[in-house]
Amino acid sequence: MQFLLHTDYLLQLLEDPKSLGKSWDLFRTRVYHGWVSPLSLPILQSESKSPKIGSYDLDDILSSLNILSVTANDVQESMNGGPSGLEDALAITLAKSYGLNGIVTASPDTVRSDDSISILQPEQLVAQSKENVSEKIKVPLLDIPASYPEILKPVEGGISKVVRSGRFILGSAVESLEKEIAEYCQSEYAVGVSSGTDALIIALMACDIGYGDEVITTPYSFFATAGSISRLGARPVFVDIDPDTYNINPHQIKEKITPNTKAILPVHLYGQCADMDPILEIAKTHNLKVIEDAAQAIGSEYKSRRAGSLGDIGCFSFFPSKNLGAFGDGGIVTTSSVQLYEKIKILRAHGSKPKYFHKWIGGNFRLDALQAAVVSAKLPFLEGWTKKRRSNAGFYTSHLKKLALSLPQEIFPRHIYNQYVVRVPGIRDNLRKYLQEQSIASEIYYPVPLHLQECFADLGFKSGDLPEAERAAQETLALPIFPELSMIQLETLVNAISNFLKD
Ligand SMILES: *Cc1c(COP(=O)(O)O)cnc(C)c1O
Repeated sequence: MQFLLHTDYLLQLLEDPKSLGKSWDLFRTRVYHGWVSPLSLPILQSESKSPKIGSYDLDDILSSLNILSVTANDVQESMNGGPSGLEDALAITLAKSYGLNGIVTASPDTVRSDDSISILQPEQLVAQSKENVSEKIKVPLLDIPASYPEILKPVEGGISKVVRSGRFILGSAVESLEKEIAEYCQSEYAVGVSSGTDALIIALMACDIGYGDEVITTPYSFFATAGSISRLGARPVFVDIDPDTYNINPHQIKEKITPNTKAILPVHLYGQCADMDPILEIAKTHNLKVIEDAAQAIGSEYKSRRAGSLGDIGCFSFFPSKNLGAFGDGGIVTTSSVQLYEKIKILRAHGSKPKYFHKWIGGNFRLDALQAAVVSAKLPFLEGWTKKRRSNAGFYTSHLKKLALSLPQEIFPRHIYNQYVVRVPGIRDNLRKYLQEQSIASEIYYPVPLHLQECFADLGFKSGDLPEAERAAQETLALPIFPELSMIQLETLVNAISNFLKD
């Protein structure tokens, strides 16, 4: 839970820390996240000039808290109460618009609220924290605001810089991100694009794939993988998956190669790389391009090489549910070929170079500068998040391994667990319903394999043609794995699954 700490609470903390010991411990030890309004800071600074013996100093206090960002609009909205009420009115405005759980104040009479936000005294907060333990714990699939105490300051800093510069299309925000991502993904170049889907489209266009061409890919992925191939007039040729990794089975690729085959498009599904060595070898023998759909796999590794550096081109998505998400749509393409890099950059802006002279038919595939700034600000946290996802996965695996379900296998480290997917033959939908009843979210990625989608009926597939993909679609369930899951949430999930499987 997240609370705004009122100036009077913080002043009392400076003067008489003992009186607030128990409530302050909740924030100091990060059971709860505490926020402070910037209007409190000048007051606290002038009061903390003569610290009393045995009290906290202001830097100590602030190191456990985060400062809320205030927009001019927040201030304007809070002005109605008159100058004397500005501080409290702003606190209420901020607590509401950030969706905080309440305001903690040492003198409740000073804060007049309209009941739309709860005002708590320190003792009430301590009492509530004890009640919460017995309260029902919810486990969502993803909780984006849970990352705000960590990321909001640098992210909003990046956004403001772009807004204040007035440069919204490409420019330095996009260029910096491209350099950072190329380095992170161990490739020479990166080109920011409008989405993961457009990353796939532009990669296929850069490889001259079009009408009459065939691209070998997996039937068990997000729709964009095959949709992009078809949108260019080419034909997706589906090869069944390896049931342990859910990725394309490299041993079934060769038999699908025809004179029209132009490329192989493996997906690193759920955050684990496809078995790339045999794929790259087949591609070399038959002179095919390899395009990695690494939308779920930023930072994933295969034999110590990062996803996106293994094939000719890597395609990434910054969709908010990916491990590195923007505040909207975005994507990026990686390559180590200077020719492909130059071509992708030109295709990104309608194929024009110089401006208004068109060598190819490209499109508007540009990454928004605001999204680039958000992703750049979040990138320094990615390794830490990956560690947390891996440790959450380790917790699930160690607590679920004795039960009657199949757990994800890390065959090619490192798996970055964009999803933690279990297999529960026969009872998947019942398990999902049971979890839902306990307020635990889960998701099915993906209920219908691509070769059986209505829009691909003309490819002529029928049920039973790609049995492993079809079986996975029937049996798998993704459990919440995001980095900010608390220990209580992890335990709640493990207990619920144990209970279900025991009955
Ligand atoms: C998310 C995703 C995409 C598409 O990315 P968008 O940014 O949503 O367009 C493509 N392929 C896979 C495997 C994905 O998970």
